[in-house]
Order: sequence, then structure tokens, then C-alpha cells
Amino acid sequence: MMHCDPMVCSINYRQETWERLLEPGKGNSRGWDIIVVGGGITGAGILREAARRGLSVALLEQKDFGWGTSSRSSKMIHGGLRYLLSGDFKLVRSSVRERNHLLLQAPGLIEPLGFLFSHYRRRFPGRHLFGGLLRAYDLFSGTRDHRYYPLPEFLFLVPNIDQRGLTGGTYYRDGLVDDARLVLCTIQEACAEGALAINYVKVKDLLTAENRVIGVSVEDDTTGEKGDIFARVVINATGVWADQLPSTRYTGPPIRPLRGSHLVFPFWKLPVSQAVTLRHPSDKRPVFVFPWEGATIVGTTDLDHTEDLNSEPRISSREITYLMDIVRYQFPSIHLEEGDILSTYAGIRPVIAGGRKKPSNEKRDHTIWEQDGMISVTGGKLTTFRLIALDVLRAVAPFLSHVDVKDTRAPVFFRRESGTEFPAGLHHVLRRRLEGRYGCHTADVLECTTDNDFERIPGTDTLWAEVRWAARNEAVMHLEDLLLRRTRLGILLERGGAEHFDRVREICREDLQWPQERWQAELSAYQRLWESCYSIRHQG
Ligand SMILES: Cc1cc2nc3c(=O)[nH]c(=O)nc-3n(C[C@H](O)[C@H](O)[C@H](O)COP(=O)(O)OP(=O)(O)OC[C@H]3O[C@@H](n4cnc5c(N)ncnc54)[C@H](O)[C@@H]3O)c2cc1C
Repeated sequence: MMHCDPMVCSINYRQETWERLLEPGKGNSRGWDIIVVGGGITGAGILREAARRGLSVALLEQKDFGWGTSSRSSKMIHGGLRYLLSGDFKLVRSSVRERNHLLLQAPGLIEPLGFLFSHYRRRFPGRHLFGGLLRAYDLFSGTRDHRYYPLPEFLFLVPNIDQRGLTGGTYYRDGLVDDARLVLCTIQEACAEGALAINYVKVKDLLTAENRVIGVSVEDDTTGEKGDIFARVVINATGVWADQLPSTRYTGPPIRPLRGSHLVFPFWKLPVSQAVTLRHPSDKRPVFVFPWEGATIVGTTDLDHTEDLNSEPRISSREITYLMDIVRYQFPSIHLEEGDILSTYAGIRPVIAGGRKKPSNEKRDHTIWEQDGMISVTGGKLTTFRLIALDVLRAVAPFLSHVDVKDTRAPVFFRRESGTEFPAGLHHVLRRRLEGRYGCHTADVLECTTDNDFERIPGTDTLWAEVRWAARNEAVMHLEDLLLRRTRLGILLERGGAEHFDRVREICREDLQWPQERWQAELSAYQRLWESCYSIRHQG
């Protein structure tokens, strides 16, 4: 039975972690085997795979775990059907197989989802071409999971879709995940095998000796403390910031930051039983409308992001119009207004610039390079994080003789079945969801509840117990960590969850020991952030 610590963040967790972080490298010791810079899914995956191999490894994240692109994706664990059209067979093949692998490992966290594509007279791609693409998709994945629905049956599945010229539709299957939670669960798995991870610690500089990177200089954002951390290998997994680590004369590939934004609607305003794949009438790009955590999400856009990468990305009014246009065009009977939007979010893709004019034509593979002994990685997809991690470790191998990358099939998650005795009346879907997210800690999540914590927060699939558990155990430093990433209440509820602030305040008082002034400061900061980056009001 493996040791099963959560992240684990008692009140003293930070100081202890900080001290453990600085300890290796003191005296005669050689420091960590690996320091991973960046707490998105790429860094989390590397941490996980390195810890599994018995390496001493720590991860540093400048803001919160998953704060970057990895909490702002379209949340799909998929092969990327559209990459077949661009001839990216290798990426599709590895992604679709990895999708199958992940779906088996983490039910409740990663769930299968049906996708429906409508066919219209004289519109590309027609039924037969699309069916051909799906045959290739299925061939890569080793499964057969698509079918064509003639018009009456298709309308039964998507009753609100535009029917002018509609001839029928095709079903296929991919997966869906809570992306921020995927990052956290992966980090937790790594920590349970001896890794260390800390948020709000920024790498300010690289330490070098004889033209080799030998460590990093860091600053703890919560205390202002500074320190040097030594490692035999530093891995730069900072995604779209990969070319910005200080004191590197950057020799990696050119990064083209591409923004993708989403709109979130209450489910009852835009009800879809499965994901609906649409082609935007203006540029023929695919846009998805999909159910997620009790809401419906519409996305995404794909355009060059020219703003400062260090400020939180946000949707532009042009993107809102673009996404509203397709929803109105494809679901004309629903009469959606901008006022129906619950929230918005935007993320930046770390794409390697391949000189292609249209953002959507740029390739999405990951790239790894070495400079002065530091390994950098960027690009890729959420879906392929485990494969990316294995590739990175292969690149590390020449520098660390005891890295063994032979075992490539071991599961990322293997603590999911908890054997928990659930309270009577807790719906089986919620039980599965809890086990998928909390694994061997599911019983602890349920135990940390007070009277009404089994209650589901209306409009979401989240239980109050989860909010309390996260506050108590999951390295929450700020209110935005709790509402935007440990739980997703900030994007799933009206005005960022304002209706529930009183109850959240009580949890923060009891479990984070925040006095009233701290709560007030956190709330103001969260509300400012939400208004400027997650609502539609900031844009003219
Ligand atoms: C709109 C959109 C939709 C997407 N949809 C999907 C999808 O449906 N399915 C899929 O598979 N993929 C999807 N992707 C791609 C996927 O989300 C990304 O490839 C992935 O999240 C990148 O993860 P990362 O860890 O490399 O980067 P990030 O998540 O951005 O993590 C990098 C981290 O490094 C930290 N950092 C930076 N500098 C420092 C420093 N000096 N010190 C410490 N930390 C630092 C940052 O704060 C950040 O948290 C999507 C991407 C976008 C933008």
C-alpha cells in the first residue's frame, strides 16, 4: 500500500516546504536531482514521472498551481480530430492513444464525452469525408466509436440546432477533464512518492558555474524571502514563458503566443447533452459547445496574443462577438444574449512559430531543447502531458545517469479507488466524481464536513465539502486559488460566486485562519480580478 499524503498543507506547511527546498545543496550535498520550473500540466507531469523513478525532484510555480494555460484550456482529453485534416498524424495517433490510457486511469476526473457534428447540404466536410476521418481516428485508437445519425435521430440529440439544410449528424467520442484539478492531482501523486511542490515561488535567476546551469535563485511571493536552490538538472517547463527565464541568452525556438477564449453559460440557457462541434461561418474554424460541471462552455478562439504575458489574459470584445455569432447562428431558436454569459476565460497557447500565417494552422506538438545543461520544453497539449514528461526525462538522461525511462506504461494515477463508505443518498455520479478527484482521500474529504457540507452548490457539481477540504489541505494561498482552480466556482457561478461569499468567508476563517481584514483584502482582490478578466464588462 503506498503512502498517501495529500498535498499537505497544515498551517506550517509553507515554512517546512521552504526549508526542505533549500536544504539539498547545503554543505557537501549536490542538491536536487531535478528542479522543475513551472506548475502547469507539463511541469506536473515531469514531477510525477521523475518521482516515480526515485529521483529527488521539486517543482516551483511563480503563482498558483495550474495558474497559467493549464486551467484555461477547452478541457478536452482528445486526439484532436482537426489535426488529421492538417496531416498531423503522429500527434493525433499519440494523443488518441493517450486519451484511452487516461480515461481508464481516472474515471470521475477524466470522463468520456460524446461529440456531435452536424452535416449541412453543400457544407464541408460532408458525411462521407467526416466518416473517413473518424475511421482513421478509430484506427489510431484501436477502438470503433463513431456513427452517423440520420436527421430525425440527430434532431432528437440536438433539438435546438439550426435545421436549415441539415441532413444529419455524426457522433464520435473523446474525453473531458477538470484541467486545474488534473494538474493538482498529478502533483499530489508525485508528492505521495516523495516529490516536493510549492506555489507562489518565482524563479528570479539561474545559477551558473562554468557555463552550466546549476540551480535557481528564487523568491517566495508570500513572505518576500529569497534563496538559492541547487540541482543537477533544471527543467524549464514554463509554457508560454519558456523564452523569458532571466539570464538565459535564449537559443530556443521562437514562441508564438496564441490566445484562446471561452464563454460560459448556465446550462439551462444553452442545454447540450453532449459536445456539439460547429464550424464558424466566418472562417470555418471548429468551435465547441459542451457541457461541463453543470454549465455550458463555448470556445475557443485562436489569435495572436500581443499583450503583456505577465498580466492575466482576458477575452476581447471581438472574441465575444465571434463566439456569440456562432451560437446565435447555430442555435437560432434559443435567442442567447450577451447578458446570458455567466463568465469568460482566456488562455495562451505556447505554440512554436512555424512561419504559418493563420494561427490555427500552426502545429501543436511539443519541443524540447537543451542549453547550458538546462532542459526546456514548451508546446504540446494537456492530453499528452505524460508523453511529454517521458520525452523530457529522455533528454535529462545524459545528465543524470540513474534515470530509467524504459517503463512507459505505468499509470499516472493509481490511488483512485478509495473503498469509501459514502453517505446514503449521495448520487453515484457524485461518488465517482469524488473518487476521481480525491482518490484515497475521498473518505477524508467527507469526514472534514460540517452539517450541510454534502450539499451540492446549486448550478455546479461541487460539494461544499470540497471547498472546505481544499481550504484545509490544498495549498490555498489566495481566494482566487480556492474559487478559480481548487474549485471552479468562480467561472461556474454568477458574479464569480458572489451569492456564496458569506459561506466561503466562514470556511476561510475556520480552515485558513483568515481574520476579517485578510478576508476583506482577498475578497477585494478577487472581485477586481474577476471583473477585469472573467466577466464581459471590462471590454467596450
Ligand atoms: C484556449 C486553449 C484551449 C486548449 N484546449 C486544450 C484541450 O482541450 N485539450 C488539450 O489537450 N490541450 C488544450 N490546450 C493546450 C494546453 O492547455 C497546453 O498545452 C498546456 O496547458 C500547457 O501547459 P504548460 O504546463 O506547458 O504551461 P502552463 O500551464 O502555462 O504552465 C506554465 C507555468 O509556468 C509558470 N512560470 C512561468 N515563469 C515562471 C518562473 N519564472 N518561475 C516559476 N514559475 C513560472 C507559470 O506561472 C505557469 O503556471 C489548450 C490551450 C489553450 C490556450
